[in-house]
Amino acid sequence: MLVLVVNAGSSTLKCQLIQTDGKVRLMKCLAERIGDADAVMEVAFAPDFVASEQSVAGLSVEECLDLLLDILISSPESPISSLDEIGAIGNRIVAGGEYFSASVLIDHDVLEKLKRCEELAPLHNPSADACIELMRRRLPHTPEAAVFDTAFHQTMPPKAYMYPLPKRYYTDYHIRRYGAHGTSHRYAAAQAASLLGRPLKDLGLITCHLGSGGSITAVNHGESIDTTMGFTPLEGLMMGTRSGSIDPAIVTYIMRREHISFDEMDAILNKDSGILGVSGLSSDMRTVLAAADEGDADAELAVEMYVYKVQKAIGSFYAAMTRTDAVVMTAGIGENSAELRERIFSGLAHMGMILDQEKNQVVGAIGTNRIVSIDDSPIKICVVTTDEEMRIARETDALVEADRASC
Ligand code: ADP
Repeated sequence: MLVLVVNAGSSTLKCQLIQTDGKVRLMKCLAERIGDADAVMEVAFAPDFVASEQSVAGLSVEECLDLLLDILISSPESPISSLDEIGAIGNRIVAGGEYFSASVLIDHDVLEKLKRCEELAPLHNPSADACIELMRRRLPHTPEAAVFDTAFHQTMPPKAYMYPLPKRYYTDYHIRRYGAHGTSHRYAAAQAASLLGRPLKDLGLITCHLGSGGSITAVNHGESIDTTMGFTPLEGLMMGTRSGSIDPAIVTYIMRREHISFDEMDAILNKDSGILGVSGLSSDMRTVLAAADEGDADAELAVEMYVYKVQKAIGSFYAAMTRTDAVVMTAGIGENSAELRERIFSGLAHMGMILDQEKNQVVGAIGTNRIVSIDDSPIKICVVTTDEEMRIARETDALVEADRASC
């Protein structure tokens, strides 16, 4: 099936056209800085993926998607000449609230619930909803699926998802832990089970999605029982530009001292903090690691803090589970940085997570999952390559096929 995957953010749009039968990518599109005067959109087609770039200044996220659809049917490099050739659309949705515990095909009822979820992710969900509406206008007969970042975490028990606040904030405003990166944690857990050659339902796993954003999840018998991200993706680990968990009193203290608005405070926590804020250099781990190697003290501190917070989260989930069989590393940092893995696990050997120095250094071919702990490590360490767009395409395909089979 030909699936168009749509990943709409607050100021970005990432799309891919994927042939799910052979797991082949046919088109990639990335629009960035949407809303700014220098907004650009790159579109590239298989087999060479040479990107052509154009300005999308003045366009909204859904207008960029509209333009992409025009390019798809007019470009000589495109594999399709009509939008009818697209078999389904798979939308990544950041927040599904308590309504969605699995991916769904979009109908009128789902659309209404999606609207109600907008306030849970005001930067992301409204763009995604606008894209869904656009697709319903332009491809009215093509099935659309919603794949949620939060769905996998709907199995968390109340003791993990409730905050110690007056209960009415939960009943009135649905303030609770929702988590994120769910599609990635689910996939990492399933891949680790195949690597270990054991059924997922028999395993206790700690999955670490360490990318620009980062979260760690305790996956017990295949179900998320706790995760570091919370009501929003701001909680938990230190991230590229997000602070992660801090004393909440710091927020009101800074606001009073500097007389700043809610939006300004929000930007400090989400955009100016984390690795960027501490290093004063960059949110990109590669840049900060290189600066730390050159002796930059702030860069070294940022890396040390990052590693320490990951170690503490792994330790806390080890305590939360009744057994831990493996820790799974995925996403940009988790998959690619042997140095970070070494720094993280050098502090966790006493818990039985023992890295094999040689296996850790081997750079696997893209898409190669592997075990990087020593053979008799009581708890295995796995590296799994994540591919969010491919997973969304395959989930969409499965939903559409199941729907057809039930008709
Ligand atoms: P996104 O959330 O944007 O999809 P990714 O999963 O691609 O993020 O992760 C991006 C992060 O991974 C960046 O901080 C980048 O520096 C880091 N990263 C990628 N490759 C390496 C590497 N070889 N060593 C260290 N960090 C890396």
